[in-house]
Amino acid sequence: MIEVLDKCIGCSKCVPACPFNAVSMVGKKAVINEACTLCGACVPACPVKAIVITREDPVHRDFSAFKGVWVFAEFEDTGRKGPKKIRKVTLELLSEGRKLADELGVELAAVVLAEKNRNYEKELGAYGADKVYLSENCEFSDYDTDIYSAVIAALVSKYKPEIFLFPATFTGRDLAPRIASLIYAGLTADCTGLSIKNGLLKQSRPAFGGNIMADILSPNSRPQMATVRPNVMKVSPPSDKTARLVKENINIPEGMRRVKVLEKKVAGYESADRIDCADIIVSGGRGMKSREKFNVLEELATLLGGMVGASRAAVDMGFKEKSRQVGQSGTTVSPKLYIACGISGAVQHLVGMKTSDIIIAINKDPNASIFSVAKYGVVADVHEIIGKLIDAVKKAKKIK
Ligand SMILES: Cc1cc2nc3c(=O)[nH]c(=O)nc-3n(C[C@H](O)[C@H](O)[C@H](O)COP(=O)(O)OP(=O)(O)OC[C@H]3O[C@@H](n4cnc5c(N)ncnc54)[C@H](O)[C@@H]3O)c2cc1C
Repeated sequence: MIEVLDKCIGCSKCVPACPFNAVSMVGKKAVINEACTLCGACVPACPVKAIVITREDPVHRDFSAFKGVWVFAEFEDTGRKGPKKIRKVTLELLSEGRKLADELGVELAAVVLAEKNRNYEKELGAYGADKVYLSENCEFSDYDTDIYSAVIAALVSKYKPEIFLFPATFTGRDLAPRIASLIYAGLTADCTGLSIKNGLLKQSRPAFGGNIMADILSPNSRPQMATVRPNVMKVSPPSDKTARLVKENINIPEGMRRVKVLEKKVAGYESADRIDCADIIVSGGRGMKSREKFNVLEELATLLGGMVGASRAAVDMGFKEKSRQVGQSGTTVSPKLYIACGISGAVQHLVGMKTSDIIIAINKDPNASIFSVAKYGVVADVHEIIGKLIDAVKKAKKIK
């Protein structure tokens, strides 16, 4: 319930703050009409705290109106002007969201905030979306926390999804908690597994330094919100389906943008520098013993057209820079081929690479955990094997 208290001073600052034109001034007092979605955008605009939203007791709330699975569609931000591509992580979330929606027997929708439509219903429909909620506005060209969170909170209040998934990217990690706080919902960050349990979203993620997996349910809030890192979920093959387009014209009040982007420089965006974009990764761990011996992996990676990754132990020992660390506190990768050399397979490493298509592990310990996720395992001294592998690849490529 939303109320305007008698202490309203009639300053009218709440009127432009509402994205739905639901506030007007009547006789020097703010009046809220039926267009209100309870998004809460007017509350902080009131200098005398005269607008109050009373939320229902969550334990006794009726969630029957909340239906459907939503995915926030994120675009690549290369810092360059012009149309932006939809990020692969969006397709990963749609593919996973499709499974959840099918299990619940509900629709899957993507939420797109863009300057203008570029056939998104076709692209996102191909990866499982039944609907695309699209809001077009030139204000969406540069991501802005205030604008994006207010618009999406308003859409949530209007359409009431039961599940809402966000990528655990810089943008998603900024946006999802802001929306969750606006709509009084919970949020589980960095999920590595999502499934349905008794009609609720089971959100699995590592806890206590990765030593246990925690399964989290949110029975008392809607939507159930979660973020998932890129490369954790697999992209399903595209179909020729087109999603239904639902256009939403949302008024963005003047002055809502508090940050003006003057110049943008996005560092390390080129895929050639990014381990999460590599199709082949040759990764080394503490078992590589020294920086010099670790560097042999570069030769193998280059011959295979891939990149070198590292375990945290290898990074801590200075064998490789932090940007190449694979795992829970590094980057999550999902290449076509992952070769783990002298890596034990601690759970914190496995969560960052276990969805790779083919994993080859080389370790002298036959009981090393890395073998539990490997398709091919070589129990041997890695320093002997790498040289032989390099020779074999050179021979196959006819390189002397
Ligand atoms: C909060 C938290 C976050 C973490 N995040 C990450 C993360 O993002 N990524 C990550 O990797 N770790 C992470 N860790 C650390 C993780 O727990 C392990 O300590 C780390 O992954 C171990 O790295 P390693 O496998 O290279 O080393 P070790 O566990 O020491 O394993 C070395 C392996 O090399 C093998 N070996 C030794 N010599 C040879 C040889 N000559 N030939 C073949 N095999 C050999 C050994 O049998 C052994 O299995 C995290 C830990 C915590 C608590």
